[in-house]
Amino acid sequence: MQITPISTPTHETVLRVHDADIGLTGFIAVHSTHLGPAAGGLRMRAYASEDAALTDALRLSRGMTYKNAAAGLPLGGGKAVIMGNASEKTPVQLLTFARAVQSLEGRYWTAEDMGMSPADMELMTRQTQFVAGLPNGAHASGDPSPITARGIFNSIKTTARHRFGTDDLSGRTVSVQGLGHVGGYLCQFLHEDGANLIAADIDADRVKEICTAYGAVAASVDDILTAKADIFAPCAIGAILNSESIAALNVDAVCGGANNQLATSEDGIRLHARGILYAPDFVANAGGIINVATEILAIDDRAAYVDEKLDTLDVTLDAILTRAMQMDCSPDRVATSIVDEMLAAKAA
Ligand code: NAD
Repeated sequence: MQITPISTPTHETVLRVHDADIGLTGFIAVHSTHLGPAAGGLRMRAYASEDAALTDALRLSRGMTYKNAAAGLPLGGGKAVIMGNASEKTPVQLLTFARAVQSLEGRYWTAEDMGMSPADMELMTRQTQFVAGLPNGAHASGDPSPITARGIFNSIKTTARHRFGTDDLSGRTVSVQGLGHVGGYLCQFLHEDGANLIAADIDADRVKEICTAYGAVAASVDDILTAKADIFAPCAIGAILNSESIAALNVDAVCGGANNQLATSEDGIRLHARGILYAPDFVANAGGIINVATEILAIDDRAAYVDEKLDTLDVTLDAILTRAMQMDCSPDRVATSIVDEMLAAKAA
């Protein structure tokens, strides 16, 4: 295995991990360790090129710095990617990559992301101790998606309070795009709180399941973006908020779980210009990393820690939305500058 450092002005450490004999090429990007060891998952995808894989690692690791900081976690931002089809991954690739993680001596902690399972993480423990998202063990944190959904639900209530003057969701309509792990739990919480649901997924069976369980009205994957609702909750893929989709939105607010919802930072400004209140995704969806953090930080009372951090997250979102209103600007810009201030204060 060859580990080659790549110098970038934006990131503390970037490593290219390569072993031609076992078909392994990947990257580990440590964006910042100002607030603590960098934490963020390992993703495996069939990238079009090494450049595309590296760009993804750089972008995602920066995103983790912002998410971890906004959640008040003593963790920095990092991410790792392996190039290739996840269904073709081999144990030797994972074990070799784990050695590269270990070489950073704890400056980066990995966990599952797209294409990885808890069993893969368990395998990696044979070569590195800096891995979370394990299925078993004293501090194993399990499936993060219920906690992610709880954080989004709280954020939707906070967003509703700012947009409508009340966080009472009974009778309000929420359109949910993506009914997987996060979207499914979110629909449950919203239904229990009295909200009406409009639901869409590329998986027609899943749509039926959610409609039956929570009285949701089904929408097609195209129509969900223009459906008339109070709040739109994107819980599927990233970059769905762009100039075209924002122009067609028929909602007063957006708050959901998908990572990197804004195609570009200008799209935060576009939402603001349309009077649509946007809860920054890296704040609203931080419940999952809070859950994983209990494992990295070996927290004994996980439930109490999660409760406290979710409450703090709510206070943070409230402050972001308040400041955005006072400054008449996009909440995304405010959230980003609050984290920039935190990082600068720590670096000083
Ligand atoms: P998941 O794979 O369980 O669910 C995603 C769902 O979206 C699937 O049901 C899929 O069929 C559907 N989907 C895909 N493309 C779609 C489209 N174009 N239109 C409608 N539906 C579509 O994933 P998840 O764990 O629920 O995560 C959802 C999003 O939340 C992702 O963006 C993920 O990065 C983000 N996120 C997840 C967590 C977590 O704890 N799982 C934490 C933070 C952020």
